[in-house]
Amino acid sequence: MSIASNLNLIKSTIPPTVTLVAVSKTKPNSDILEAYNAGERIFGENKVQELVEKEETLPKDINWHMIGHLQSNKVKYIAPFIALIHAVDNIKLLKEINKQALKHNRIINCLLQFHIANEDSKFGLTYSEAIDLLKSDTYKELKNIKISGVMGMATFTSDESQIVSEFKSLKNIFDSLNSDFFSQDESFKEISMGMSGDYQIAIKEGSTMIRVGSNIFGNR
Ligand SMILES: *Cc1c(COP(=O)(O)O)cnc(C)c1O
Repeated sequence: MSIASNLNLIKSTIPPTVTLVAVSKTKPNSDILEAYNAGERIFGENKVQELVEKEETLPKDINWHMIGHLQSNKVKYIAPFIALIHAVDNIKLLKEINKQALKHNRIINCLLQFHIANEDSKFGLTYSEAIDLLKSDTYKELKNIKISGVMGMATFTSDESQIVSEFKSLKNIFDSLNSDFFSQDESFKEISMGMSGDYQIAIKEGSTMIRVGSNIFGNR
């Protein structure tokens, strides 16, 4: 199967309201161009240096999403162009994104990453940490970032019921935050959940944005 046919197959099976992020990490520009020529415009990367190199050489109408862990000291490299940062999990990072966005006279869209998996991970907020962040004076002062939703990753397991319950927990977090903090804000709308192995489950559980790599580009 070619990249174009993989892409078209996935797009034909997901609702038109769900955004597909084509995860192109580790893949060469030629693969990305193949997907681009098949109509894809949203690509996800998880390493800053690789993302910057690709952005410099590939077509300018690509929307680049940073889907991986982002260190504060690297925000400056992607601030001029990044369309969405998926994995914001602390106020210090959010402050730095705001500072760099201001320098470029932009507003940068961000998702709050939640730790929903039953796996040890250093990354992702708990619900109460997110509440503290959203209530903080520091957050209220940030004018050049926009929190447009939430993101999470389910446990890598064959136990479908566990994946379902983890995605349900992210949907519940989204709904609570939406009613408590963003009820006047229509741009808070994204639930980024679902990868190659679990995106169909994620969509059933309310995902609005899936991040799919290997099902499009092959194994890494
Ligand atoms: C690599 C990656 C993906 C895509 O994974 P696949 O299993 O190849 O679809 C999605 N989200 C994040 C955060 C990733 O790092």
